[in-house]
Amino acid sequence: MASAPRSDEMFDEFLSQRGHEVDDVGWEENYNKKQCPDCGGLHGSAASECSVCGWTPVN
Ligand SMILES: [Zn+2]
Repeated sequence: MASAPRSDEMFDEFLSQRGHEVDDVGWEENYNKKQCPDCGGLHGSAASECSVCGWTPVN
């Protein structure tokens, strides 16, 4: 009689897993510049790769 359904618990777990699906690796933005997430180097908006460490965004 006092037993609560467990479905809410499972649903929370499902939501938290979906919340971590974002794994796109792209430029960080810092003061209107692109910042390499790997080495932290700043580049202009036209940059397509990091000239410091050679990192490129994953599309
Ligand atoms: Zn870099």
